[in-house]
This record gives sequence, structure tokens and C-alpha cells, in this order.
Amino acid sequence: MTAPNHGGYRCLCPACGQPMFIRKSEKQTPTFQTMYGKCNNIVCGASYVGSLTWDYTLSPSGLPQPQVKLPLSPVKERMQALRDLSPDSDQLTFLEQLDQDQEARA
Ligand SMILES: [Zn+2]
Repeated sequence: MTAPNHGGYRCLCPACGQPMFIRKSEKQTPTFQTMYGKCNNIVCGASYVGSLTWDYTLSPSGLPQPQVKLPLSPVKERMQALRDLSPDSDQLTFLEQLDQDQEARA
């Protein structure tokens, strides 16, 4: 695999604000996943189920026949994404890890 995941998931427990571990994610559709998370804080230990959705296209797929075509994001979201995805941001860590988990399971 790739480099170890320093810092862990960037998904925070709604109960205590500590990082959560995404134990499992199930693809429902290409743009919608159900996710199961457990809080890493042993004192808290809450677990939750939620969802991840892809809403808009920031930059289109290079594939000739992508599985989905999402509407192009409004300018406001694109500007926000440029900030969030800048190299000094850790916003990507969680989603990258999620992708790696799915590959490992496949
Ligand atoms: Zn917690």
C-alpha cells in the first residue's frame, strides 16, 4: 500500500469531537455511500451510521463514458474547493483513506 496514515481519519465524532474510525462503507450508488463509524476515544466509544454523497462535478472525468455525470458545481463551491484542496490542507486525508479501504477490500 501507500504511506502510513499519520493523523488518522478526518471525520470527527459528533458526540466528543475526536477523530472517528470509518469501519465500513457500502456503495449504494456511484454517488452515494453508507458509512459506519466508531469513535476512537475509548471514553466516548460512540458509533454512527451516515452517508457520503457526491453532489457536483469540480472537474470532469477524463473517461469517454463516465458512470455518472454530475452537474457542474456552482462557482461558490468551486472556490471553496480550491481552498480546501490546497496542499497545506488536510481535507483530503479522510476521503483518500476511504478510497484505499475500498481498494483493499476489493
Ligand atoms: Zn466520541
